[in-house]
Amino acid sequence: MTFPSHLLDGYGRYLNKGFVRVKETHERLAVYGQKPDVMVISCCDSRVTPEGIFNVGPGELFVVRNVANLVPPYEDTEGQHGTSAAIEFAVKGLKVKHIVVMGHGQCGGVKAFRENANDPMATGEFIGRWIKLLEPAAISMACMPVDKSDDPQLAMEYAGIRQSLKNLVTFPFIEEAVQSGTLDLHGAWFDIGSGELRVMNSETERFASAAPDAVLSDS
Ligand SMILES: [Zn+2]
Repeated sequence: MTFPSHLLDGYGRYLNKGFVRVKETHERLAVYGQKPDVMVISCCDSRVTPEGIFNVGPGELFVVRNVANLVPPYEDTEGQHGTSAAIEFAVKGLKVKHIVVMGHGQCGGVKAFRENANDPMATGEFIGRWIKLLEPAAISMACMPVDKSDDPQLAMEYAGIRQSLKNLVTFPFIEEAVQSGTLDLHGAWFDIGSGELRVMNSETERFASAAPDAVLSDS
């Protein structure tokens, strides 16, 4: 088996250019460890890169990526709870000040759920069970359409972010940190084609474009 050559080529370029720029940061991080203030829960989608979107370097974001940027509710059952383990470390170990659940447009996980809502297992041995986490989001969207968008895919993406934020506070240590004011929870949504980031207002639960003036002035 050969390691992909384009990755090795890219690594060579990174070592000579990108890494040189952050060499001191890496050295500092290696000695003192990481202390990111922000955790991002994002989708695995290759088009959504949290470090790129927020223009941050090594050591600045603690990121977990999974299919459809979902947070499961707190469970004390047996099993390998990968996302929950990352959340536990971020909050209890790193003591992050913010958790951002970042969804995105054209999400394949959300699309799979919408198209196979009656038969989620049809979408894969693991994916089907995983995206069932969206079921409460679909129910709450149907019962109380906070933001009834004309675009059902977008509405489901928003609802999934809201549900993940609700699930976050089912973790006792998160509820406690939020109550004590040491942790804030945020929702965001990224549009792949335009690069637009929308941030959720925590009171109205509606999404609005972030910093459009800054985007315009940079263009
Ligand atoms: Zn996705």
